[in-house]
Amino acid sequence: MDRDKPREECGLFGIFAPEQDTARLTYFGLYALQHRGQESAGIAVSDDRRIKVHKAMGLVAEVFADDALIAGLRGKMAVGHVRYSTTGSSLLANAQPLVVHFQHGMLALAHNGNLTNAPQLKEELCLRGVVFHSSTDSEIILNLIAGYKRNGLEDAVIKTMMDLRGAYAVLIMGDGKIIGARDPYGIRPLCIGILEGRYCLASESCALDVVGADFLRDVRPGEVVTISAEGLSSRQGPSGSETAHCSFEHIYLARPDSTIDEVNVWESRFRMGRQLAAECPLQADIVIPVPDSGTPAALGYAQALGLHFAEGLMKNRYVGRTFIQPTQEMRETAVRIKLNGNERILRGKNVVMVDDSLVRGTTSLKLIQLVRHCGAREVHMLISSPPVRYPCYYGIDTAERESLIANRMDVDGIRDFIGADSLYYLSENGLRAALRGGDYCLACFDGRYLDPPPPSRAKDDLEKI
Ligand code: AMP
Ligand code: SF4
Repeated sequence: MDRDKPREECGLFGIFAPEQDTARLTYFGLYALQHRGQESAGIAVSDDRRIKVHKAMGLVAEVFADDALIAGLRGKMAVGHVRYSTTGSSLLANAQPLVVHFQHGMLALAHNGNLTNAPQLKEELCLRGVVFHSSTDSEIILNLIAGYKRNGLEDAVIKTMMDLRGAYAVLIMGDGKIIGARDPYGIRPLCIGILEGRYCLASESCALDVVGADFLRDVRPGEVVTISAEGLSSRQGPSGSETAHCSFEHIYLARPDSTIDEVNVWESRFRMGRQLAAECPLQADIVIPVPDSGTPAALGYAQALGLHFAEGLMKNRYVGRTFIQPTQEMRETAVRIKLNGNERILRGKNVVMVDDSLVRGTTSLKLIQLVRHCGAREVHMLISSPPVRYPCYYGIDTAERESLIANRMDVDGIRDFIGADSLYYLSENGLRAALRGGDYCLACFDGRYLDPPPPSRAKDDLEKI
């Protein structure tokens, strides 16, 4: 895990609005998407041909701590990006938006997702003499678009999409417009907002709320939308054999106040809790969530069974997500810094603890120790998603196969490892029901990867090319 891997969980925001301070609105949009990536942030602005960008390592507020930086970014349109990745060598080179000069002008690109055929595409481009500055898939997309650009930007994007396999939501700024595209399966989210007659695009609807834009609709799988002085237009790019939105966005990744593909994230998490209650009703003194992503499910569970909901664990809101720490030791320290147990609530109690997912098992292990240390008599662990047995090839860092605890152990083994009195995971059917039976990818749970199946290569092969 100590490598610079070409996989990201990222946040995108773009706006075309000549009357507005587009960089500042993008800054606010990125602020709302901070949970999608805390390692780097950047904003690119453009009037027509020229593109100006500022990007750096750190949180949005750190990268743009000096207001003069925002004030200096003037343009009728802007795209922004927050990036998550594990640590490595050339981090700043991987920060986005990526901006390039080429014979037809300038282009900026912000990308969320992961291409499953990136190594092949990169090899082909390298054979054609293309030089790469970063180790991201995003630069591959940018180079393909630049190569096809003679036909006009939308055509170039659609041609590029024909070459791409895997998951992506992208924003491309150039030629006086911003193009937003979503992969043919609609794996990664992207939605459209409207602000005083102008349009914006964002990974999640919470970013639209923050800038005062109204939600218009989600970008459809394989759709290519353009926002410009002409308003909003749309073309259909390549279609997938099915729709497969990422279920993990609902389980963990997205903000609960976002609505993605017509399903509100808080409500889907709440329903996951109700499903857990139907599948595994327990007697308990209190139901406690692992905050914050376990909270709606814990509430749903407690309400369904008429149990007492309590905040037995308190989160320090000034600590980032635990996975951001690259090494195992640092990750464990981060868990302790992040959550503290409330002894007054927990002492002598028979506790049901609800978390959204169990990946490596580190979090549950530490928290069960903590809850017991605070005097709980019994700790029953409920997980509002099925066991994560397979790695994600579509842009979510669910860890290498070997470090996924459910890949190595059965449920009883995991229960013993984390030290719980009992452990229950939501069933796949329960998850589907909570997601209202829509078309979702569940590959990290059921191993049914989308067509074409990902190659069995190591995750960081792109680094070696
Ligand atoms: P683990 O400690 O490896 O079992 O991780 C499970 C915890 O990490 C849960 O509390 C989740 O809320 C959280 N989590 C799940 N998936 C991710 C992810 N892709 N990135 C960061 N945190 C995650
Ligand atoms: Fe989402 Fe899992 Fe599918 Fe990856 S494999 S896209 S995390 S549901």
